[in-house]
Amino acid sequence: MRTLPLALCLAAAAFGQDLSGLRVIAFGAHPDDCDIRAGGTAAKYAARGAKVKFVAVTNGDAGHQTEGGGALARRRRAEAQEAGRRIGVEYEVLDNHDGELLPTVAIREQVIRKIRQWNADIVLAPRPNDYHPDHRYTGVLVQDAAYMVVVPNVTPDTPPLRKNPVFFYFSDRFRRPNPFRADVVIAIDDVVEKKLAMLDAHTSQVYEWLPWVDGELGQVPQDPAARKDWLRKQRFFAVDPAWKTSLAKWYGAKAAAVRHAEAFELCEYGRQPNDDEIRKLFPF
Ligand SMILES: [Zn+2]
Repeated sequence: MRTLPLALCLAAAAFGQDLSGLRVIAFGAHPDDCDIRAGGTAAKYAARGAKVKFVAVTNGDAGHQTEGGGALARRRRAEAQEAGRRIGVEYEVLDNHDGELLPTVAIREQVIRKIRQWNADIVLAPRPNDYHPDHRYTGVLVQDAAYMVVVPNVTPDTPPLRKNPVFFYFSDRFRRPNPFRADVVIAIDDVVEKKLAMLDAHTSQVYEWLPWVDGELGQVPQDPAARKDWLRKQRFFAVDPAWKTSLAKWYGAKAAAVRHAEAFELCEYGRQPNDDEIRKLFPF
């Protein structure tokens, strides 16, 4: 009689709580932004049965030193879809130009439709203060959708949500007008290799464009296994010291052993969950 509950307990300890039924959508400006900020958390969600979708609001057709336009956009879309496949999330790339994103009503409507169609419980996005205008305006666009998703006469071609989702921001290091606040920290030590595999799919970004911007293109190995090892050394996904208090709040005594994490800040504009609800909304 006691065997089954024990087995369930062991399963719960190994895999965390069952999150099937939960629907998560994340918006990044470019194909790879969601992956960098929330790829580990998304992999954990997917492993626990939640449905996750990443949306790149621009098609990435500008950010490259030797390629551009439609051919680059097609390459970036294929990379994003492969990245999503590697961790079990859906990935959509919207066809807005890279480097030219503005918070227009037309693109706000695209964001509203995506949140409604996904029937999202949780929405993740960048904060609206960031060095890159596309990141900044993605933050503004999602903030501007945070109430409108429940308003029937706004974007009336897509039925409104009856329950406003919870909105969280990705982490960043920008300090003005206010620094990022780690309201939730998710330990990702158990999925670091999955996150790495996801980033490894973005060849044109992580092995070409980003190292070129940093003046390190000559250091990227040609061999696929060697360059993945190089990538592992580039991106540590380490716990930011500023997240330690929050990490201890959510993980208790286990927090000291956590080496890799992702953090999120609650947006004031969506539904406001209490701590008990947050425990049911994130893959701790
Ligand atoms: Zn970006």
